[in-house]
Amino acid sequence: MIPTINTVVAIDGPAASGKSTVARGVARALNWLYLDSGALYRGVTWQALENGIRISAGPALVGMVAELQIAFAIADGAIRFSLNDMPLGIEIRAPRVDKHVSAVAATPGVRQGVTRWLRKAAELGPLVAEGRDIGTVVFPDARHKFFLDASPDERARRRYDELAERAEDVSPDEVGRALRRRDTLDSERDADPLRAAPGAVAVDTTGLTIDEVVQAIVARIREQ
Ligand code: C5P
Repeated sequence: MIPTINTVVAIDGPAASGKSTVARGVARALNWLYLDSGALYRGVTWQALENGIRISAGPALVGMVAELQIAFAIADGAIRFSLNDMPLGIEIRAPRVDKHVSAVAATPGVRQGVTRWLRKAAELGPLVAEGRDIGTVVFPDARHKFFLDASPDERARRRYDELAERAEDVSPDEVGRALRRRDTLDSERDADPLRAAPGAVAVDTTGLTIDEVVQAIVARIREQ
């Protein structure tokens, strides 16, 4: 693994804790690349659903990941991925992907494949990476680690607004339930569960604006 102590900012946290928008803002402020690790777990899930691979069929899923060809591109300060020449687009954010992604991500062989891809992405330049295990597993030697969280109600509201904006047909109750289910699966799985990395700075984003969180994180990085 290439040393990433000074070239990775790790931001972890549960769904809808503000990680993506904040990580994007921090990357912009530092002029570093933004890396969304969840997009890869979503991309793998989407591929499995499209190919009719049963999510509970571990070996078939892991075999599929081993065969997938990944390509990286940089656009708008972010690392974008293609799997088998298919750029990962908005389809990976659909509720059916939300529903299955945590089960896919709980499969150890899938995690090993995705972790390898993420470490490869770090060769593209200094980056701000967000996910569930960035500070604990993917880039454990990163000097700058943050753990974002927000109240369950606030996270459900944010997620509902996001889906409503894309005209997805879901109710606030359904969104809250799906989020709680994903939180439980992500934090209780055996393989690389969602955890704050030792030494990570905890940030509660409830009631804070994105700008406030970005500024607090950038200030902290500059003083670390
Ligand atoms: O960040 P996002 O909500 O898009 O991630 C989708 C799912 O991918 C998470 O619920 C989790 O199951 C999985 N994930 C993970 N490890 C990461 C990033 C995402 O297990 N580093």
